[in-house]
Amino acid sequence: MSTPTRITHLIGHRDYDGTADRTSEVYNPATGQVTGALDLASASVVDEVVKHASAAAKQWGATSLAKRTPVLFKFRQLLDENKERIAALITAEHGKVTSDALGEVTRGLEVAEFACGIPQLLKGGYSENVSTGVDAYSILQPLGVVAVISPFNFPAMVPLWFVPIAVACGNAVVIKPSEKDPSATLEVAKLWQEAGLPDGVMNVVHGDKEAVDALLDHRDVKAVSFVGSTPIAKYVYERGVAAGKRVQALGGAKNHMLVLPDADLDLAADAAVNAGFGSAGERCMAISVVVAVDSIADDLIERIKTRMAGLKTGDGSTGCDMGPVVTAQAKERISGYIEAGQQAGATLVVDGREAEFHGPDEGFFVGPTLFDNVATDMSIYTDEIFGPVLSVVRVGSYDEGLDLINASEYGNGTAIFTNDGGAARRFQNEVEVGMVGINVPIPVPMAYYSFGGWKSSLFGDSHAHGMEGVHFFTRTKAVTSRWLDPSHGGLNLGFPQNE
Ligand code: NAD
Repeated sequence: MSTPTRITHLIGHRDYDGTADRTSEVYNPATGQVTGALDLASASVVDEVVKHASAAAKQWGATSLAKRTPVLFKFRQLLDENKERIAALITAEHGKVTSDALGEVTRGLEVAEFACGIPQLLKGGYSENVSTGVDAYSILQPLGVVAVISPFNFPAMVPLWFVPIAVACGNAVVIKPSEKDPSATLEVAKLWQEAGLPDGVMNVVHGDKEAVDALLDHRDVKAVSFVGSTPIAKYVYERGVAAGKRVQALGGAKNHMLVLPDADLDLAADAAVNAGFGSAGERCMAISVVVAVDSIADDLIERIKTRMAGLKTGDGSTGCDMGPVVTAQAKERISGYIEAGQQAGATLVVDGREAEFHGPDEGFFVGPTLFDNVATDMSIYTDEIFGPVLSVVRVGSYDEGLDLINASEYGNGTAIFTNDGGAARRFQNEVEVGMVGINVPIPVPMAYYSFGGWKSSLFGDSHAHGMEGVHFFTRTKAVTSRWLDPSHGGLNLGFPQNE
């Protein structure tokens, strides 16, 4: 077994050269081996990084759009050139299969492309002669230092939802990646240096709760973009807002896919399998509940089961369909849910604990699992399992299915499968969920729209990227101006009125 590689903070253009009081282990989930030793930042390391970022933010924010834009174009090019290398790092620490890892980098790349249009995106408004001889206009200014705190499941894409836009808007960034798979985030951050971003505008601190709390409390951090589980998202939102910051905190999910009797059942079965088991179910947009109208439920389950039989679970770098889950604890937790579902009386159609695995025995593997006859009070229904466990809940009608989805605590993503345009149109209007797919199981918005859920899937008012991202990373200033005209002189202590 080789010695674990040290992974440390990135302070602008240099690696942190101090020692760490605490470290944590990074695993390759396919082999179960420790591959990295990660420095965990103390509050004083966070302070050092934020101070460095703060000094850089002043200069970068004052840098012209003409000079900022080429850096974004260069970063986009470098990310494209390095995407296979970044994808391999994701597979090595997260476990997802190579094609899936490449897919996440590509979706992140789209946000970098969107950010390249920053001169257009930062245009304010201008109204001439709003009062006699007076003009009014608005400008969008950077915030200063912003923090991005990301989850393990998209180590490249989630930071990329925020970072290119934050940088394009003239801010300096401190990223706190997941301690489970920090390397892809770190390597993408290093590309900014090569792209010509000045020292200190891009920084990475590794750590756990201590580092997160230090960022939330630091007076020079002006905004926080968080993505993770619902309890932590709520905590981050409340603590960040209490400290006077702007916060967007995207939380967990439990996504339903409603299948109506007139749906194309082969398409629906493909979608359920792809969206249920892709990335071993470790996606916030994974489908975890199929809501099947009774009359087609047996047929649909049979088609899903047939497809599941052909799936190969194993080491994600060796051409399998599904990789391991992220940690040994995650494997144990997911297996516990399968046990609980069985105990609660759901029908276990396919048991992923019994699957054949194409990887070392020490790998953290759980195979695709399917439950039928799931009731809404069972823990496999109520809890976000975040693993390859798909539940089928049977309903009598569209209305019953809609009520069930709207009663969920979460509102991240959902999908309807039908050939009835009227039903689909009603669904998009009536469902209380932030991202909706119509015959599309994972409706992740393009970079120029915004990503985010409703209810316990998001705390704060802004979704990620698109124009909401531009507004999150800027402050609007409204200017009213009059150039000297002697005819408008004179005293008037009344409230300004337009004339
Ligand atoms: P997590 O909440 O455990 O961790 C997210 C981040 O918070 C990490 O950087 C972690 O270091 C930090 N953190 C963990 N515990 C903390 C604590 N007590 N105090 C302060 N910070 C803490 O989430 P995860 O397991 O890494 O990621 C999976 C979760 O993220 C799932 O719930 C998934 O649905 C969610 N997610 C949501 C979206 C979305 O867009 N809504 C996208 C991706 C993932």
